[in-house]
Amino acid sequence: MTVTRFAPSPTGYMHIGNLRTALYSYLIAKHDGGNFILRIEDTDRERLVDGATDVIKSTLAMTGLNYDEGPDVGGDHGPYVQSERKAIYMEYAKKLVDMGAAYYCFCTKERLEKLHEEDATGGYDRHCRNLSQEEIDEKIKAGAPFVIRQKMPLVGVTTYTDMVFGEISMNNSELQDQILMKADGYPTYNFAHVVDDYLMKVTHVVRGSEYLTSTPKYVLLYDAFGWERPCYVHLPLLMGKNEDGSVSKLSKRHGAVSFQDLVNDGYLPEAIINYIALLGWCPKQSESEFFSLRELEGLFGIDGVSKSPAVFDFEKLLWFNGEYIHKLDDESFLKLSAPFVKTDIPENISKEKMYALLKTRISKLSELDEKMEFFINLPSYDKELFLNKKNKIADFEIVKQVLNEALEVLKKLESFDNDTLFAALAPISEKLGIKTGAVMWCVRIAASGMAATPGGATEIMEVIGKEESIKRISVALEKLV
Ligand code: GLU
Repeated sequence: MTVTRFAPSPTGYMHIGNLRTALYSYLIAKHDGGNFILRIEDTDRERLVDGATDVIKSTLAMTGLNYDEGPDVGGDHGPYVQSERKAIYMEYAKKLVDMGAAYYCFCTKERLEKLHEEDATGGYDRHCRNLSQEEIDEKIKAGAPFVIRQKMPLVGVTTYTDMVFGEISMNNSELQDQILMKADGYPTYNFAHVVDDYLMKVTHVVRGSEYLTSTPKYVLLYDAFGWERPCYVHLPLLMGKNEDGSVSKLSKRHGAVSFQDLVNDGYLPEAIINYIALLGWCPKQSESEFFSLRELEGLFGIDGVSKSPAVFDFEKLLWFNGEYIHKLDDESFLKLSAPFVKTDIPENISKEKMYALLKTRISKLSELDEKMEFFINLPSYDKELFLNKKNKIADFEIVKQVLNEALEVLKKLESFDNDTLFAALAPISEKLGIKTGAVMWCVRIAASGMAATPGGATEIMEVIGKEESIKRISVALEKLV
């Protein structure tokens, strides 16, 4: 059975790149009907951020990336939080020592600092690699603090095959005797994730390509234990566009790059997921760009993952988001919009009608307040706005005539719905010998005070109601005297 995991460190917000890793990992498992695990990698105690684990969980819940095993939900291979697995790592590290693939290191901080000062790139000089058993026993007995290091082969080459990037090889002479267990008794990421992936029966390790070149060290651990190596799926880098047109690793300076920030800015989780699914993967059997999570589960394949860096395009995401918003039913739109609307909507406004008009004109929910402002308060505008070449409105005289006629007609109306309004205003065109479009243009400018609006004259008046419509047309007529 295919088993994948998402193994974030709770060090802050959910970067969009991490979310893409979670998504691809989830999809690889689900495509095969397999299991998706959430594991919290919190052994780097200095980098922990309060509340970060909750952000991870809520992001996965909001995006529908439900895990089959993990904190809260449990499973056969728990605990799923590394800090709760401390004893396991020590046991396995000691096994490695006994097998001759790792060793105790008692070097003091001062010694290591001095080494670094002498040669900043030289790394650890393997000083403790060949201590005698007596020396080791003595130091441990005396309670000397220690770390456990991986004993790297000094010659030869280590090779593994990544499912996206192909064969990756590293000369063993370049590999440092990296620390597996720290002096505080916690494992390093380098060690903990290997032990966990093995114990949790992970078949596919899916993660960012920053781990591509450290993976030879990890496969050596599998080999030392005699464990079968997992399949590796490293994902292409995520880049952001710089102002000068160049690209660099996607970061905050490119814009909101955390899932939470995007949601707070009015992006829908479904749209974000759809967009990031395409950042590094291309469907083989579909021309469409729009996919629900269920559809992605069916379509996703590692063979569609590219190794070329993917560029995060905020405009494309905005476009995707708009498409998702436009397709919402009115009820969902109203519900999702609620947290974004700070404006007090007055009684005269037909809220449902206004939302229905706005829905197809916004690309993110945070645009709503600004877009609805003209319904609530007539903006101050210049009478020049009425003049319009396309509708052949070249002077204010005709505008005055249209608005005076409109005022009379509107005053008499009992019902103020779109169809009634249109039926009542349309005859003005015949009466004045101008096109219906010209009539509607004048009325729309008067009703909205804006050149471009969501909806036409009658739709806008239907939203603001009879009294306000009449008031606005009177205001326009006063401008025109
Ligand atoms: N905790 C690591 C990170 O957040 C996980 C890397 C991996 O998936 O192995 O980058």
